[in-house]
Amino acid sequence: TPLGTELEIEHLSAAYGPITALDDVSLPSRPGRITAVLGANGAGKTTLLRTISGLVRPRTGHVRLGGRALTGAAPEAIAAAGIAHVPEGRGVITQLTVEENLRLGALLGRRRAKATGQRGHWDLGAVLELFPALAGRRRSPGDTLSGGERQMLVIGRALLTEPEVLLLDEPSLGLAPRVVSQIFDVLRELVDRRALTVVLVEQNARIALEVADLGVVLALGRVVAVDDASSLAADQALRHAYLGF
Ligand code: ATP
Repeated sequence: TPLGTELEIEHLSAAYGPITALDDVSLPSRPGRITAVLGANGAGKTTLLRTISGLVRPRTGHVRLGGRALTGAAPEAIAAAGIAHVPEGRGVITQLTVEENLRLGALLGRRRAKATGQRGHWDLGAVLELFPALAGRRRSPGDTLSGGERQMLVIGRALLTEPEVLLLDEPSLGLAPRVVSQIFDVLRELVDRRALTVVLVEQNARIALEVADLGVVLALGRVVAVDDASSLAADQALRHAYLGF
């Protein structure tokens, strides 16, 4: 797949029965850029990621990748098209070792490489180089890992699927600040190197805006602000009203 495939998220609305969780949400994104999705508990951030990855069917709007319509497609089809979703709560398969978890990602990556006729960018060695903390733990079962190591593992596993787009739900949750900045440094590096598109959902707006290029603030399922990350971070009224810092 050529580097830098465009993700388009336009006018998405979604509901759980009578509850509107997303109302006409469009998202700025670009290859090689990190877009932060911010907002309080219940603002609709997780629903937005679930709608992009096909777990929630939108009522209106479009999801396209490289011009190809993916709106309403099955989650497996969306993953196969190149959108990797790393849900909140990490998703390490605890009975499997680090290496076995990574090999699961590689399996999908090989299938994608075959389908697209393109060579993959990632292998086990490249991921272990990116996250040296995992290298010494290759044979360790998932349930023996620290929170930070688990987060590194699920990001590494997602990279092995050879995605164009990485959707990350609250990767900082419960982690020490030092570990968060380690993970965000790696994220920045690989986004720059691979022209990946990253959508980063975070409650912790302050640190998210430090790593992100663009940002969207949601409240009650609606976009209340969209701008460069640095402009959002500089907006004191917005920070106080919606971002908690
Ligand atoms: P959090 O940080 O708590 O995950 P969020 O910004 O990700 O918050 P969502 O989880 O997307 O917000 O929730 C948006 C709205 O949809 C909330 O009002 C929530 O109560 C509702 N909601 C979320 N999931 C469901 C569900 N499975 N069934 C019914 N309502 C839901």
